[in-house]
Amino acid sequence: MADKILMKTPLVEMDGDEMTRILWQMIKDELILPFVDLKTEYYDLGLKHRDETRDQVTIDSAEATKKYGVAVKCATITPNVQRMSEYDLHEMWKSPNGTIRAILDGTVFRTPITVSRIHPAVRSWEKPITIARHAYGDVYKNTEIRTTEGGTAELVFTGDSGAVTRQIVQKLDGPGVLQGMHNKEASIRSFAHSCFQFALSQKQDLWFGTKDTISKIYDGAFKEIMAEVFEEYKDRFDAAGIEYFYTLIDDAVARVIRSKGGFIWACKNYDGDVMSDMVSTAFGSLAMMTSVLVSPDGIYEYEAAHGTVTRHYYRYLQGEQTSTNPVATIFAWTGALRKRGELDDIQDLVTFADKLEKACLDTIESGIMTKDLALLADDDGTIQVVNSVEFLKAIRRCLEALL
Ligand code: NAP
Ligand code: MG
Repeated sequence: MADKILMKTPLVEMDGDEMTRILWQMIKDELILPFVDLKTEYYDLGLKHRDETRDQVTIDSAEATKKYGVAVKCATITPNVQRMSEYDLHEMWKSPNGTIRAILDGTVFRTPITVSRIHPAVRSWEKPITIARHAYGDVYKNTEIRTTEGGTAELVFTGDSGAVTRQIVQKLDGPGVLQGMHNKEASIRSFAHSCFQFALSQKQDLWFGTKDTISKIYDGAFKEIMAEVFEEYKDRFDAAGIEYFYTLIDDAVARVIRSKGGFIWACKNYDGDVMSDMVSTAFGSLAMMTSVLVSPDGIYEYEAAHGTVTRHYYRYLQGEQTSTNPVATIFAWTGALRKRGELDDIQDLVTFADKLEKACLDTIESGIMTKDLALLADDDGTIQVVNSVEFLKAIRRCLEALL
């Protein structure tokens, strides 16, 4: 076999927890280290080490991502009450993804990995649809009141200058409910940059929808800021042969369902929450969904969209071989390696990433797959359900034939 592919800049490697941590090592040993002279700067985001470092390691890994530009992350436990005692934690540390997202000011893009044996619930969809959710503000940072009597609700804004703006929301003639919410121009602007950057990097159209006919000021601001930021990208969109398409959110939903797929759908926070569950379910399985965090200045962090697959891990600890699907985690690695290859101009690394992805898909198309996929796939009598180790070995055989 040829020499290993050399890298220039290290990838930021963020290790994680439970079953995905086991898969992480297997993927590296079986599919990457034999072929790539892998350079990484390693951060152990496993819960034990996060606790030992008082979560400093999470911050350090995000700062390293800012420095180098590309990271690959394993799924991690977000602690809850039960994890406090399970891991004897000093504190209920925040979600690492939340911490990293805040430091990078990024937007998450989720894309399904499609195979021909698994048909999307929406028959017209031929290509993946990527959802970008603006993960700041709106109803997720609201204040609410439920009144027990009638009265007057007002919206009052006191500026730092002291200027006061006041509007009547409603004169209620009896008990009612009220909600106040906000967003920040800076956050919408960052979202816009991340979306346009990602669309260019994927060479795919970008769609965006709001209800600006009803919410002329609030949703109107989203529409205006997106359009304004787009001016900076217009020439590059034209050169790439892609477009930015704005429409009302209800029209967007109708068009998405009738579409063939193959574009990025930018959504306001609530729309993204709801629509990402619809799109991922319609495409098949959470185990086949990748996720990439993109910062407004073009920094990328790749991961699988699923969690640490705790139920499988407990079975693994009992000595059982589990049939956990490693594909989304492999695609996190290939995404990161490809991006590193593009940035450092290493064509061999880009080609390797392409071939490893093809090896995963070819293996599944040939009938060899994990249990979660077997439940969804067309069975023409060729399906062979395997455990994770056997699946990785089958992908390796396929990869070696492609290289
Ligand atoms: P999960 O790990 O995504 O697993 C939920 C279920 O989905 C599994 O029990 C399994 O179903 C199926 N599944 C998910 N990924 C699979 C795969 N690769 N192969 C096969 N089946 C797969 O979600 P969770 O159980 O709610 O969360 C577990 C832990 O992950 C939590 O501590 C949570 O905080 C963390 N989490 C982390 C991230 C992240 O780091 N990005 C995201 C979400 C959750 P069956 O058991 O039916 O086979
Ligand atoms: Mg949701």
